Amino acid sequence: MDNLESVKHVIVILSGKGGVGKSTIATQLALCLTYSGKKVGILDVDLCGPSIPIMLGVADASIHQCDDGWVPVFVDKEQKLSLMSIGFLLNNKDDPVVWRGPKKNGMIKQFVQDVVWDELDYLIVDTPPGTSDEHLAVLENLRSRIDGAILVTTPQAVAIADVQRELTFCRKTKLPVLGIIENMSGYVCPHCSECSLVFSQGGGEELSIREDVPFLGRVPLDPQLTLCLENGQSFLEAFPKSSTIDAIKKISQKFIDENSIK
Ligand code: ADP
Repeated sequence: MDNLESVKHVIVILSGKGGVGKSTIATQLALCLTYSGKKVGILDVDLCGPSIPIMLGVADASIHQCDDGWVPVFVDKEQKLSLMSIGFLLNNKDDPVVWRGPKKNGMIKQFVQDVVWDELDYLIVDTPPGTSDEHLAVLENLRSRIDGAILVTTPQAVAIADVQRELTFCRKTKLPVLGIIENMSGYVCPHCSECSLVFSQGGGEELSIREDVPFLGRVPLDPQLTLCLENGQSFLEAFPKSSTIDAIKKISQKFIDENSIK
């Protein structure tokens, strides 16, 4: 049986380099999509830094197996968000994954084929930074099912140059680009909620215009979001009125509206 049979859309999240907030965007986008009534799954194939279980407060969960494969962990009690991460399979969560390409590819193949996903509107695949074996393995094993990629960048020029390489990767591998998200775009003061532009702004949007791909929006650097991610707490529930949540909700809505994919 095809374990992705009941999954409507598969989206890959890419970033040119680490630390730009790819996993953060993957989790917050997933949470906002569930808030809009969608059923969402996250497949965390960031084998070298599986941070999503911590961000979603399920780091101690253990994976169960049924006859058809691994059963993902439900993150919320309404069971609208489920997660499968390599982090769940490591004996010691602090151990690095030291595997050569073929073993990584094997693990990703198994991930893709052996996770029993329920009915989902969106399966969000969080990949490692850059363009490596893992990305090719994801494409190889999910090729016919992927709707496209969302690229995450920070506003500064270096990160943008990295995204440029991701765009080239997408073009070469014929992976449609569904949009660019500019993260850490301005800093939200936790005291007065004012947003200051500590880095430059607009690089992601400029790039999207130049490359003729959709710009989905920008998310500020918000210390309250960092805290929630560290504590595995839902930012959406903890700070429902924050301007950062508004920004993420807008991106999520734009994504739903613009991607009447298929
Ligand atoms: P990546 O997946 O690109 O390596 P992460 O999503 O793990 O990056 O983010 C790196 C760090 O930056 C994490 O500690 C995360 O909490 C923090 N972070 C990312 N985006 C934001 C943001 N918009 N506001 C506050 N903290 C953020």
